[in-house]
Amino acid sequence: MDQIKLARDLLDKSLNPLFLTGAGISAESGVPTFRGENGLWKNYRPEELATPEAFRRDPAVVWEWYNWRKSLVSQKDPNAGHLAINFIQERHPEMGVITQNVDGLHQRAGNKNLVELHGNLFFARCVKCNGIVEYQDYDNNSPQCESCGGRLRPHIVWFGEQLDPEVIGRVNRYLQKTDLLVIVGTSGVVYPAAGFASTVALRGVKVIEINPEPVIDFALQLKGGAGEVLPHLSG
Ligand SMILES: [Zn+2]
Repeated sequence: MDQIKLARDLLDKSLNPLFLTGAGISAESGVPTFRGENGLWKNYRPEELATPEAFRRDPAVVWEWYNWRKSLVSQKDPNAGHLAINFIQERHPEMGVITQNVDGLHQRAGNKNLVELHGNLFFARCVKCNGIVEYQDYDNNSPQCESCGGRLRPHIVWFGEQLDPEVIGRVNRYLQKTDLLVIVGTSGVVYPAAGFASTVALRGVKVIEINPEPVIDFALQLKGGAGEVLPHLSG
C-alpha cells in the first residue's frame, strides 16, 4: 500500500517525530469510551461524576466510580498499536507520546516520554501539595495525603478544569521541536488534537493520521486501527 510506504519514509527521515493518541487506540484494547449511552454507570452520566462539583458533593460515589473504571481497565491489555510505538522509539529514543487517554495502557506497554494530558486512572493527587500517589481502592469519603495530610482526589482532569501548566509546557516543547506529527485514534476535530495538528502544519510540519475514518484533510491519511497500521511502520 503506497500510503504506508510514504508514511514509513516520512518516519525514517524524521529527526523528531511525535505521537498523539486518543480513545481509538484504547478502544482496540476493549476499553469503553465512557461517552454517550455506553458511558452510563448506575444511571450517572460521566458529566455528572467527572467534575469538581460532584466530588465536593459526594466524594464517595466519585471514588466508587473510579474504583470501578480502574478495575475494568486493569483487565485490559496494551495492543499491537501500543507495542509498535516501542519499536518506533527504539529508532527515535527522544520521541514523545502525548495521549488523551487515562487508562495507563501506553505506560504498561513500555512507551517512553509519555505525556498524559488528562491524567491517569491509576494515580491520585493531593489537592494541597500536588503530590501524586499510586491509587488505592479508596472506600471512604476522604483519603488523605501521607506527606501533608491534604485531601486526595483522582489524578484526572475533570470537565471544566484546565490542563496542568507543567503538562502544557511539555506539550508545547514537543510541538515546537517536532518535524512529523503522527495522530492515532483521535478525531482531528476535537480539541486538543485539532489544535496540535494545525499548529504544526502551519510551519510546514507533515501530519500523519491513523484512524478507521480519517478526518484531517491536510494529513497523510492511513485508514485503519492502530493495531493494524502501526506494526507496518515499526518493523
Ligand atoms: Zn499532600
